[in-house]
Amino acid sequence: MLNNLDHEVYDAHCHLSNESYNPTTNIVTAPAHSAVAATSSHDWSKLVTYRQINPKAKIGFGIHPWNIERDLPVDKLEAQLRAQIEQQQPDFIGETGLDMLKGNLNLQLEYLKIHLQLAQDFNLPIILHCVRAHNQLLELLGKFPKLRGMIHAYNANFETAKQYRRKNMQLGIGSIILTSNSQLAKSSAHLPLEQLLIESDAPYMPMTGKQTSNSTDCLTYALELAMLQQKNPSEVIARVNQNWLNLFS
Ligand SMILES: [Zn+2]
Repeated sequence: MLNNLDHEVYDAHCHLSNESYNPTTNIVTAPAHSAVAATSSHDWSKLVTYRQINPKAKIGFGIHPWNIERDLPVDKLEAQLRAQIEQQQPDFIGETGLDMLKGNLNLQLEYLKIHLQLAQDFNLPIILHCVRAHNQLLELLGKFPKLRGMIHAYNANFETAKQYRRKNMQLGIGSIILTSNSQLAKSSAHLPLEQLLIESDAPYMPMTGKQTSNSTDCLTYALELAMLQQKNPSEVIARVNQNWLNLFS
């Protein structure tokens, strides 16, 4: 049986939370290998500090689509994000994306295009949130052929996964894999391991029965993936960790 200590599963998507990082005391409790995405422009400088204390962590700058209406105006975003990328050298761009269930989709598209352009200009991976907008996102990604990245909290069918693969997009597998009737759980037996990463989305996407998620939950999701794919858990963990290194290094 695998245990936490022997098997760190690299977390492909999480956020700063009071549980993982206390900005006043500079104490970090998250595992070393975590890709920590901004949700707003206020996170950017905190993430730089976080990476100084945890040099194996990767950090991303972006504005989550839920926050765009109370963050930088769209006409200021390009210049400010570009300047911060040049100065602070984040490891990826994100979180950004589209959400049909929340906010103004046209405005989200404007913010997203700026993130995509800067990711391509600086040759950085991009981490994308996408809820019920896969067709719009795939169409837009067609305009940025050099981009690579990850669709976080992936939950769609096998055909959509194939389309993302053609756009150099990895898939972030999180707590949704534990829901047996989800599209993800139904399609995950066939998803190619080389396209997959494991993520906690800490603290926001806990498994049933927990208040918050954290990076150590990634082991549970990796074991579930191994079970659904009928593969050796050690092989699955080694492969998703290698995918993490390939995407973020
Ligand atoms: Zn997130």
